[in-house]
Amino acid sequence: MKIHEYQAKELFRTFGVPVPDGGVAFSVEEAVDIAKGLGAYPVVVKAQIHAGGRGKGGGVKLAASEAEAKDHAGDILGMTLVTHQTGPEGRLVKKLLVEAGQEIAKELYLSILVDRATAGIVIMASQEGGMDIEEVAAKTPEKIIKVRVDPLTGIQGYHLREVGFGLELPTAALRGFSTLLKNLYTLFVKNDCSLLEINPLILTKDDKVMALDAKVDIDSNALFRHRSLLEYRDLDEEDPLEVEASKFNLNYINLDGNVGNIVNGAGLAMATMDIIKNAGAEPANFMDVGGGATAEMVENALRIILMDEKVKAVLINIFGGILRCDVFAQGVVAAAQKTGITIPVVVRMEGTNVERGKEILAASGLNLINAVDLKDAAEKVAAAI
Ligand code: GDP
Ligand code: MN
Repeated sequence: MKIHEYQAKELFRTFGVPVPDGGVAFSVEEAVDIAKGLGAYPVVVKAQIHAGGRGKGGGVKLAASEAEAKDHAGDILGMTLVTHQTGPEGRLVKKLLVEAGQEIAKELYLSILVDRATAGIVIMASQEGGMDIEEVAAKTPEKIIKVRVDPLTGIQGYHLREVGFGLELPTAALRGFSTLLKNLYTLFVKNDCSLLEINPLILTKDDKVMALDAKVDIDSNALFRHRSLLEYRDLDEEDPLEVEASKFNLNYINLDGNVGNIVNGAGLAMATMDIIKNAGAEPANFMDVGGGATAEMVENALRIILMDEKVKAVLINIFGGILRCDVFAQGVVAAAQKTGITIPVVVRMEGTNVERGKEILAASGLNLINAVDLKDAAEKVAAAI
């Protein structure tokens, strides 16, 4: 689960990681009130969306006066912000973070990630902070320091020194940096984060370190033990069809193609997407209704896929194991009767109670295209579009 910068900074404050003073605003008036309350200029007005690269896209602006803060807030709030992370369609800005502007002596980069390769945690840091860290990673990877931490023994003094010395911090800043990194590591582990990134982490003229930006992703599978973090979920920032699917425990990811597919089992879903591509078509989604799906889940799965306007044909690929074919067929018929199917639907079904399932589909009067095997199914759906 992604969270907003202002929410990440709330967490930072709780864990003793220095951030600028500021607050979140949902209107221009609120933004101006926060600016006034900060008591000094410049203030920074920042778009709050679940994507980075806002600075380059015009979503981060410094204001030297109250009038300027008002102008910037008016410009950014309600704009469709396009960055390299939003895609060309951009994101509508619905909230702002208004913060005390900082004097920057140096912009650094700092992140903590789960490293699958070593089954551990890795801290990454660089003196080349600011907006172009992707370019640093691509062109000069030697400028990125990587320090691995064993989660069983946790972060130790030598890890902190390795990163601090690697960043060539002035001696006066080292103590503050060590405390910051240690607290950040604790925040990361305690909240089951999968990613934590500060770009830029700044060094001020008086040798203090502070997080000017904050990106935190939380492992969704751990949210059951972080009920309070669930309040940070922002449905405005999520794909509406994915939000709808999550209500029914469907594993659904919206993609770019035009062949919708419904499959039971994640492995079978991956294989089905492959055969769709092999047949020269593009999958519109990943949809795993799960091994033990009910007729209602199948019904909702089909309804959600049919809501997707880019879907021009559907491939249903079911192996009846725990989910019996007759139960599945009932779900398809119920969805078809409620939603109405106006596009070609190819069905490949095998396994427990397949004969009964085929009877139900045949008796329904639905215009379905039957396939004998996987290859046949993929070819028929590719031909149908
Ligand atoms: P991003 O572009 O989405 O990553 O947003 P950031 O929060 O990183 O802001 C982009 C850039 O704005 C930073 O790299 C800074 O250079 C600049 N910036 C943000 N806050 C301040 C501030 O308080 N003072 C100054 N001088 N620059 C700032
Ligand atoms: Mn940034």
